[in-house]
Amino acid sequence: MYGIFLMRYWFCVVRHANSMSDVEDIKNRISVVDLVGEYVRLQKAGSAWRALCPFHNEKTPSFMVSEERRSFHCFGCGKGGDIFTFVMEMEGLEFREALEQLAQKAGIELKRFEKGDKEKESVKPKLYNILELAAKWYEKNLWEGRGKEKILGYLRGRGLEDETIKKFRLGYAPEGWRNLLEFLKKKNFSVADIAKTGLLVEKGFEKKIPNSKYQAQDTKYYDRFRDRIVFPVQDIMGRVVGFAARVAPGGDEKTAKYINTPQTELYDKSKVLYGLNFAKTEIKKRDEVVLVEGNMDVIASQQAGFQNTIAVSGTAFGPEQIKVIKRYTENIKMAFDMDPAGQAAARKSARVCLENDLNVRIVLLPKEKDAADIVREDKAVWKMSVEGAREVVEYFFEDAFSRHDPKKSSDKKKIAKELLNVIKDIANPVEKGHWIKTLAEKLGVGESALVEILKKARSEPKPAIRGKENAILQSAGKEKAVERRIIGLLFVFPGETDKQRETINPNNFSGETERRIIEKLKKEGQEKNSEKIKSLVFDFEAQRLIDEAVFEVEVERDENGITFPEEDLKEALKRQRNMMIRESRAEFSKKIKEAEKAGDKKTAKALLQEFQDLSSQPGE
Ligand SMILES: [Zn+2]
Repeated sequence: MYGIFLMRYWFCVVRHANSMSDVEDIKNRISVVDLVGEYVRLQKAGSAWRALCPFHNEKTPSFMVSEERRSFHCFGCGKGGDIFTFVMEMEGLEFREALEQLAQKAGIELKRFEKGDKEKESVKPKLYNILELAAKWYEKNLWEGRGKEKILGYLRGRGLEDETIKKFRLGYAPEGWRNLLEFLKKKNFSVADIAKTGLLVEKGFEKKIPNSKYQAQDTKYYDRFRDRIVFPVQDIMGRVVGFAARVAPGGDEKTAKYINTPQTELYDKSKVLYGLNFAKTEIKKRDEVVLVEGNMDVIASQQAGFQNTIAVSGTAFGPEQIKVIKRYTENIKMAFDMDPAGQAAARKSARVCLENDLNVRIVLLPKEKDAADIVREDKAVWKMSVEGAREVVEYFFEDAFSRHDPKKSSDKKKIAKELLNVIKDIANPVEKGHWIKTLAEKLGVGESALVEILKKARSEPKPAIRGKENAILQSAGKEKAVERRIIGLLFVFPGETDKQRETINPNNFSGETERRIIEKLKKEGQEKNSEKIKSLVFDFEAQRLIDEAVFEVEVERDENGITFPEEDLKEALKRQRNMMIRESRAEFSKKIKEAEKAGDKKTAKALLQEFQDLSSQPGE
């Protein structure tokens, strides 16, 4: 799977042969540690950095990043590469898109593309451009246009400082049907492209509002946001991907209070978290995230100094967002309104967290106030509430026991039902056992009775994030991993492995690239270091393979020490041989069976002899 990915990457680089120097320029300007650090929580490990892998689900970190090697590598799932591979994988981009994104970040202008590329050009950069221009236009309308009188005072009245309004890029979408549309058309964007950003509504799609003071004009598309305060939704790199919009004070109250741009090519609601681009550093630092309900709550809380605050935007909290959060921390605090709707949302979200093994706490807020109000009125109350957050299952227990009487048999059943419903979702078995025991004690019933109920409660299939693709990747990658280790040991310890190198047969390697590297290495001998060999093998895939192999062995050397590299190499070669034998054994037995079935005893015997010869060959 990963091989295909590399090939695609390599193919793109070849096709854009002229961009090779761009690639190098960009790699020289962007630190791989800084870039990866924008997406995951890195911790120093020797000369490299370590994190929980963002590409597969794991408990102990096996994902390494090295500035020196300008690459990353996961020892769990085998993914690795440079800044381009990382961005491609992380954001699901094509090479060209990753190149453009990183060029922009590095401040490099890409001029060296071949002609004809223009037509093949991806639409994404254009859409980002449109959204950015729209955000600027909304901002201008707030600070200089019609929003200045009408909206700015309202925002300030809600406790927002000008600096905060600018930081979050709040804006105003004025009344009228085609203001933004006309503005963007003048910038030479096609209506079709503008529509792809979700900023427009197609006529006939949105219902006409009876008795509204607004009347639609006769045109196919019109502005989605009219007379609304707009909140740009940014991805973790800070690019605008969509908008949320609140009805303006004194505006048309017949319409929904909040509306959002719909799901688009750039705006994946299941993944985006509002405020994360500002919050991520602080989340990593505090190893904790605070989840609130609305955009205003995020802004107010961050302004008050709680910069690790985020919210979901226009969707329910789900496993995809948890996956994103888990890259930064495993500890989440939920500060939802205390009204029935807010608490129902908190319960639902908390259970998704438990299913995915996050540590959840519930922030208890003073009643009838949302986070933004509390922060504005008294920062200290907000701080106390967040710091005093209750462990979630404990909170569910208290809540259930306060609403029912555990002495009554009918209430006992209700409590058990409610809490077992929560307990069944806990992913961690130790934690689960603990809460069953606690519940049994508090209700004065046997644990076994509760376990029985749990068994009966058929849990529906859960959209939890652990996938099965890792297992497949791992088994397929084993052979490659051993071969990589052999190559790594040969490069990192040229002197110690001198003798063995001579005896290695390149044909024992599974891939053409590996074979080529071994051949080169044997020919050049120990004087040549990895950089030299890299310059001799020419192609990108082989160079990358050498980089990764060396990286893996160097990390191991720095972390645990490699005292006898020649012994390690011997061991790796033995493993490689065993794998090969196991494979050919299966192949041989298949052929022997076929020959026997056909009555061809002579062939069967010859095959058997061949197989025995192979098995008895010396290990080196
Ligand atoms: Zn991984």
